[in-house]
Amino acid sequence: MTSPIWHPFTQHGLAEPIPLIARAEGAALYTREGVRIIDAISSWWVTTHGHAHPKIVAAIAEQAGRLDQIIFAGYTHEPAETLARALIAMMPDPLAHIFFSDSGSTSVEVALKMSLGFWANRGAPRHRIVVMEHSYHGDTIGAMSVGARGVFNQPYAPLLFDVATIPFPEAGAEQATLDALEANCRDAPAALIVEPLILGAGGMKIYAPAMLAEMRAICARHGVLFIADEVMTGWGRTGTLLACTQAGIVPDILCLSKGLTGGAVPLAVTLATPEIFDAHLSSDRARMFFHSSSYTANPIACAAANANLAIWRDEPVLDRVAEVERSQRALLAAIADHSKVVNARQLGTITAFEVDERSGNYLSPIAPRLAAFCRDRGVLLRPLGNTIYVMPPYCIGDDLDTVYAVIEAYLSAD
Ligand SMILES: *Cc1c(COP(=O)(O)O)cnc(C)c1O
Repeated sequence: MTSPIWHPFTQHGLAEPIPLIARAEGAALYTREGVRIIDAISSWWVTTHGHAHPKIVAAIAEQAGRLDQIIFAGYTHEPAETLARALIAMMPDPLAHIFFSDSGSTSVEVALKMSLGFWANRGAPRHRIVVMEHSYHGDTIGAMSVGARGVFNQPYAPLLFDVATIPFPEAGAEQATLDALEANCRDAPAALIVEPLILGAGGMKIYAPAMLAEMRAICARHGVLFIADEVMTGWGRTGTLLACTQAGIVPDILCLSKGLTGGAVPLAVTLATPEIFDAHLSSDRARMFFHSSSYTANPIACAAANANLAIWRDEPVLDRVAEVERSQRALLAAIADHSKVVNARQLGTITAFEVDERSGNYLSPIAPRLAAFCRDRGVLLRPLGNTIYVMPPYCIGDDLDTVYAVIEAYLSAD
């Protein structure tokens, strides 16, 4: 019997097999038939400590029986209050206000609306957003608008709003990025939005912390709001809790999601400085922040996030991150000289390289072929075109050897 389900980023016309996963634990997924698959991409970049972490599971179960859901306009609850205080304590000053939503895309929509609201409420409306080439910020219309244009959004292109795009800071051509940002800032845009240090869906493209610091400084000099989309980079992926920390910067607006609940249930936050919050503060209801979703700050999701924060407080998470970073470095080095491996690179727990040639696009046949090859050998990978990347949960341990052995087998086949 065929399933009625329409899967994300899936061409059903190709009738590729879709395994049914029955359970997961740590870094492993198990099919209905009991086949073990190593989750080498953290289930699309969300799982940090591993699947079904006992503390997160217990927090979800306990909260579900106590208070499952409550309208968040005009009401509040303990899991959200606790989480808000703990998150603000964990994040750099002056990020002092927190708005809840339920996905990375909505956290970006919220960030964009906050920045437009900031300018509107100051009586000096601004509408232009500056973005970086190759960036990805989500799949809703606003998030697509500030992301790279390509085959994924071509049918919707006429409805996407115009943005100003600065070039990706390729090694040796960084000045062009800074010059373009400087020029755009003179036209009084509302904000710049960037993925700090590494562009994820755009192909795991890495740039230096110094560049991030320079971009932040240019925005500050021109009074342009700086939005950091740490939906992927947050929660240790790049070696530190936040990628921004490595550049010694603090954004005006910060988006977090994916690892916020350890990857167990959906939740997102958009953090803002007092300046942005205060611009919406008034006795005039017309100046409030006009955004909500039904499940804003869902108590069960907040409880999962509180358990995640407790794990960060009580367990040596950054030691595990450093361990993954070391293993990744050694394993990548062992395949980096392979004739088919181009541009092997690493940032924190993430490694990436291109196969064969650099010019492959997202629809490169390498991606489905390699994904199927690895799946059949018990490893979940999902290349971005001809870019293979490994982004494991921090509990992967020796399973990482198997991941690279399978990649090596693929490279050495045919
Ligand atoms: C995944 C991602 C998003 C979108 O998050 P969703 O939860 O999938 O909506 C936004 N920005 C970045 C940098 C991401 O990697």
